[in-house]
Amino acid sequence: MPLGEFDLIAKFFSRPPGRDDVVLGVGDDAALLRVPADQTLVAATDTLVEGRHFLTGASPESIGYRALAVNLSDLAAMGAEPAWALLSLSIPAADEIWLSGFAKGLLTLASRFGVDLVGGDTVRGPLVVTVQLMGLVPAGKALRRSTARPGDLLFVSGWPGEAAAGLARLRTSDAGPAGPLVRRFLFPEPRLRLGRLLRDYATSAMDVSDGLLGDAEKLCAASGVSACIDLDDLPVSPELLRCHPATEAERFVLHGGDDYELIFTLPPGKAVDAVRERLPADCPITAVGRIESGSGVRCQRAGATVVVPGGGYDHFT
Ligand code: ADP
Ligand code: MG
Repeated sequence: MPLGEFDLIAKFFSRPPGRDDVVLGVGDDAALLRVPADQTLVAATDTLVEGRHFLTGASPESIGYRALAVNLSDLAAMGAEPAWALLSLSIPAADEIWLSGFAKGLLTLASRFGVDLVGGDTVRGPLVVTVQLMGLVPAGKALRRSTARPGDLLFVSGWPGEAAAGLARLRTSDAGPAGPLVRRFLFPEPRLRLGRLLRDYATSAMDVSDGLLGDAEKLCAASGVSACIDLDDLPVSPELLRCHPATEAERFVLHGGDDYELIFTLPPGKAVDAVRERLPADCPITAVGRIESGSGVRCQRAGATVVVPGGGYDHFT
């Protein structure tokens, strides 16, 4: 007997509440959530479609993890604390082995970051996963992408490009154990602690979902400024360089978009020192350029402007 809709929800997605601000979670027509008076509600949603955002036959644990992680990354970029998630799930069949892996990936990550799954919707259809994530930020403290200023330094966190290289590997070989690059694609680490730290120092921030270069362009357009990126300063990870020639590794760093690192701007001087002193141990940051007046993003190497082949890195074309 295949599992019915209500049993499926009860078995895989209904958990005792972990947060005391959940007045009512899964089970009624809607969830009831308490928002403190001095906080602003932050809401984000992202959809993952089979064959577009993950490969057909991908590990259900990774699909569940990434469906939440991409939203956690959006809240990190706003400097927010995640709190409550809704899950809209379209699945071709009630496959219990698949559902159990999917729920484990999603709910383990949720509990790591203190997020309660408080509701959702479950339908039969092509495999499509939408998570809506809500969280809190002290009133007036949210980070934005539209507030970078000329003179600021442009930073990126971690090791951008590793996940895109991992995906390239997943797409070309179906055998072999998953190395660190593949794991970075399947289980990206949302930079929540960094985002929380940055809300006291950064002038702007956003997460990198479409590639460092393309997303720097978006940040600049939103802020009405331009940026000059120094290619000599890019953080090219040792693992990327071990697996790829330097020019290919640089392409992954500039155009790879699945790491969910943060880009952000800091005024030079005290703010940079303060952030560096308080950085989470697992989260290096690198100054890759400078914000200027004007528009667009320019790249230079050894002081000379270079034209970088344009367009976001698209893994599926
Ligand atoms: P309704 O028809 O009243 O919208 P549903 O049958 O869609 O109710 O859902 C019943 C309850 O289960 C609701 O509280 C809903 O939020 C929750 N729910 C449904 N699907 C999921 C899911 N995939 N994850 C978490 N909660 C879910
Ligand atoms: Mg419903």
